[in-house]
Order: sequence, then structure tokens, then C-alpha cells
Amino acid sequence: MKSKQNIKNQPKKIIYCKKCVYSNQKVVPSKIVEDDQNHSNRIFLRFGKDGVCSACEAVEKKFTDKKYKIDWKQRENQLRDILDKHRSRNGSYDCIVPGSGGKDSVFQAHMLKTKYNMNPLTVTFSPARYTDVGMKNFHKWPENGNVNNFLYSPAGNIYGKLVRLAFENMLHPFQPFIFGQRHYATHIANKFKIPLIFLGEPFSEFGSEEKYEDEQYFMPLKYFTKKKNQNVKLAGIEIDKLLKDEKFKISDLEYFLPLDQTLIEKNKIQILFFGYFENMMPQENFYKAAEITDFRTSDERTEGTYSKYNSLDDKIDGFHYWTSYIKFGIGRATEEASNECRHGYINREEAINLVKKYDGELPKKHFKEFCKTWSLHKSISI
Ligand SMILES: [Zn+2]
Repeated sequence: MKSKQNIKNQPKKIIYCKKCVYSNQKVVPSKIVEDDQNHSNRIFLRFGKDGVCSACEAVEKKFTDKKYKIDWKQRENQLRDILDKHRSRNGSYDCIVPGSGGKDSVFQAHMLKTKYNMNPLTVTFSPARYTDVGMKNFHKWPENGNVNNFLYSPAGNIYGKLVRLAFENMLHPFQPFIFGQRHYATHIANKFKIPLIFLGEPFSEFGSEEKYEDEQYFMPLKYFTKKKNQNVKLAGIEIDKLLKDEKFKISDLEYFLPLDQTLIEKNKIQILFFGYFENMMPQENFYKAAEITDFRTSDERTEGTYSKYNSLDDKIDGFHYWTSYIKFGIGRATEEASNECRHGYINREEAINLVKKYDGELPKKHFKEFCKTWSLHKSISI
């Protein structure tokens, strides 16, 4: 394998959160367009003096902290004020919900439509390779959830090559999909002049760079736009180089890439976190989605973890967590158990046991397809 990981800023001494099973190796949401081979702009999870991570701190404040006392009614009113300014009066779309037709996006689109009387357009950036259950769930979203949807599916040879390059350069095969998920909705927002885009939980619940006190209900522009002369990298490679050396056309890459900040500002496009305004709980959303669209879980436990209902759509998904486990010691079970721990579904002891049992498990189910489809057998030995 070509990839040589020498991750800058990575803490040398590993410490674990006292409330969940995250360690200080956890990478928090950052400016993905600058991500390079050394992950030199990566930001790692913050810990308080009490040994509790910032993700736990954010979720705790959401539920129990008397000092912050989240007033959900006040937040709902804040959302209503925003929506009142944007609600369509002529039948056009007035907001966008990007997603896969999984539990969170189904819930958000449904709430915006039924509780807030909005007219959402849903948009989906296709995974590199759909799983059968993911494709079925995706189709159920427009069919049963009664929302219009645009699905963008990049050409297999383009997507596959980007996945391979991201894997070889950064040990991060999922990165092209993250780019598409992050940026595609802004292109549609720009084309159709729909300024509101809704995502789920605020970044703070996964331990964001911003302090909780500064937590915003919207995604800062730096996470989804590019500045005029910013050197954007995809798969760790500068765009000009991808076009020249790898013979991509700009149209091949367009929807993976961010729009200029000036354009986003001019059209007043904002990404808001629906989970800031509505108290979203992972399992409740799941039951709700099952009711709305007949969303189904997988028949089997997801490899690398203990659950059946999270991120089921993409055959690459398992490799994303597996490579994260290799680089940072944070696998899929750590992610899910940490989240469930801080939401009170399991205790820390149970979380530790689940991590010990499942984290880092090789995702065998799609391994051969993963290697064969993108010719990864050239770069790794099976
Ligand atoms: Zn924690």
C-alpha cells in the first residue's frame, strides 16, 4: 500500500472519556476540502478538566444541565421565525433535506412538511456502491414518505477511481462520498434558489471544533464552501492535478466539490441543524422512520459493530470505519456505543464490552467486491 500515515497534531498519549468510549484520537468535523495525506488540518476531540469529552458535554447539556436549560419551546419558536421568512407561497420548494432515506433524513423531511408546513425537496448523493437494503430504503423515502427527490449518481469509473485514490493516498476510501454528501445539496440550492438546507444533529454532538457556548445552529461557511483562491483537494490531490494527471473532466467532479463562498453568500444559502431546534433521539427517529416509510433494518448485524440500523446504505461504509480504526483506534462500535452511551441507552461498562467485542472487525461481506470493483488488489495484498 502506498499510503503512509503520519498524522500531524495526533495526540501521543491516549486518554478516554469518563462518560463514553471516545478517546482523544477521535477526529472532529473539520474543513474536509483541505484534507491531505498527513491529515494535517485534522482537529481532535477536546476534553474538559473533568475528563469528559466535548461530545458528551454537548449532549449532557441538551438533556440535564441545569445551567444551560435548553428551552425547546424557545428553539421551536426560533425555527418557526426562520421558516416563516422562507415558506413558499407559490408551491415552489422552500427548503432542502439531503439524506439517504435513513432514519434522520426521513424524520426531518416529515417534520418540516407536516409540523411546519414547509415544502421540502429531498436530495441524495449516491453512495459509491449501494447495498440492497440501502437502495430499498432509499426508494421508500419518495414512495412512502411522499417527498420529491433528486438522486445524483456519479459514473462508476469516476467514483471508483476517486475511492481508490482516497484509499491509497489517505487510507480514507469514504472521503469522496463525504464530499458529495456535504456539497451536492448546495449545488441544488444554488440552481433552484432554495436557500435553506437542513441537516440532523449539530456538529457539537460529535465534539466539534467550536466551543459549546459558541455552538451555532448553522454550519459555518468554512465547512462547506471554498474561498476564491483556496487550494481544494479531493482524495488528497489538488483539483487541477486530478483534472490533468487523472484525466477527470470538471463535470465529473462538479457535484463532489464546494461552491464559492461568495456565491453562497450572494444567494444567502444556509445549512441549519434541525437537531438544534427539535430534540432528536436516535432510536426514536428510527421508530418514526419505520412508521413513515416502512424503513427496514438489515437482517444481519452490521460488521464492526452490534447494531442493525445505522448507515446501511453503502458497501464502502464498513471500510470507512475499519480504516478509521486502523488510523485512530476509533471503529464503528466505538462510534455507536459512544453515542448510545451519552444518550443513556447503554452504560459505559456495556459500551466498553461492545467495543472490545466488535470494534475493528474486518468487514468481510463486501471485501472482495470492494477490492475487485476498484482494482484495489493492485495496491493491497489480500
Ligand atoms: Zn464522551
